Amino acid sequence: MTIDLFETPERLALAKVTADFTTREIVPSLSQWEDDELIPREVHQALGRVGLLGVGYDESVGGSGGDSIDATVLTEALIGAGASGGAYASLFSHGIAIPHIIDAAQARARVGEQADADRLIERFVRPALAGDKIAALAVTEPDGGSDVAHLRTRAVRDGDDWVINGAKTYITSGIRADVMVIAARTGDVGAVGISLFAVDTSAPGFIVTRKLRKMGWNCSDTAELAFVDLRVPNEALLTPEPGGGFASLARHFAFERLSLATLAYSTAARCLDLTTRWVQQRETFGRPLMSRQVVRHDLVEMYRKIDVARTYARSIVCKHTAGKTVLLEAVLAKNTAVAACDEVVDRAVQLHGGAGYMRDSEVERHYRDSRIIGIGGGATEVMTDLAAKLLNW
Ligand SMILES: Cc1cc2nc3c(=O)[nH]c(=O)nc-3n(C[C@H](O)[C@H](O)[C@H](O)COP(=O)(O)OP(=O)(O)OC[C@H]3O[C@@H](n4cnc5c(N)ncnc54)[C@H](O)[C@@H]3O)c2cc1C
Repeated sequence: MTIDLFETPERLALAKVTADFTTREIVPSLSQWEDDELIPREVHQALGRVGLLGVGYDESVGGSGGDSIDATVLTEALIGAGASGGAYASLFSHGIAIPHIIDAAQARARVGEQADADRLIERFVRPALAGDKIAALAVTEPDGGSDVAHLRTRAVRDGDDWVINGAKTYITSGIRADVMVIAARTGDVGAVGISLFAVDTSAPGFIVTRKLRKMGWNCSDTAELAFVDLRVPNEALLTPEPGGGFASLARHFAFERLSLATLAYSTAARCLDLTTRWVQQRETFGRPLMSRQVVRHDLVEMYRKIDVARTYARSIVCKHTAGKTVLLEAVLAKNTAVAACDEVVDRAVQLHGGAGYMRDSEVERHYRDSRIIGIGGGATEVMTDLAAKLLNW
């Protein structure tokens, strides 16, 4: 059943378009982008033109249609054809930002504020899905990322405006984003005091304080930000007060975590692919590595871990697409896929020997890139703790 849903003719076609785009437009330039620590904007626009940025978004907001299964198929195909985790993070950073803007537009339309709703879509969502604007989400702060409920950036009402002061860090696409969804405290301490704002990054007071250099995801720009008397109009406030910001973040965390699970098992699957090819042609002591039983057993273990992670994550994506609440399952899927990926990328580098330790070997990049998946979007320990809470333990 799950397999059928992932292999309908339309989804096989989506996978092919994605793989073709990746082979043609991403793979040949990836090493250069890694050195430049940036992906050219034209790549966002090219992805937008073929409709891939809009997969999973309704056509009424500028998307290409489809659902969470389609978005999963896209990620699998992108990584399977040789893109990197960093390219995925950078090109699809809108995926963690614009759902909050779409929610706000829908809420305004429901209460008859159609003009306001349309403005949000036209100004931020359509251009992001077309690749003309880059969108990002700023939640994490220098004082801590895991404890979202205690963030300190503050927004204070001043007449018809809000004035935001604070700092954010590790923000994907933060260097060149045009629109930033910012989490800021508008009320009391804890989760209830948090709101989300959609901010045009050209506004005075929005400052990129530092470009951050990283272990992996090098082609993805990452920023530290400061907001100094950043003044935004009231319509920038996306969420109902009080506490609407945390609720909106929590609502979208489930699919964000499933997307990271997909990234993890897809990275592992790509590494297994590369390793299987390598051990067939690499000879040691007069025989191909593949001829050694211990190597074949290693490959089978890699395959098993990936298949368990993929089968579980895909089944939860199906439940999510059917409208079921999957908070617990998304957490478990992420931790399962991260564990599989960590082990598989390590074995992939090992079986490549010195070649796997060389910069520009693909498994070396996946080894570095994948390390973040168990930290970002909820660290593994924090996910396990959340699972215990959701199980009432
Ligand atoms: C490359 C990259 C891209 C990112 N992109 C974004 C982005 O676009 N937007 C954004 O808002 N954020 C982003 N982040 C931030 C990311 O979400 C945070 O790094 C993550 O949530 C962890 O927060 P922290 O780094 O402050 O770690 P901390 O909260 O300081 O935790 C440190 C470590 O302590 C452990 N730990 C924490 N709490 C517990 C606990 N209760 N029990 C046991 N162990 C615990 C975990 O191992 C954790 O990794 C990004 C980070 C990176 C590195």
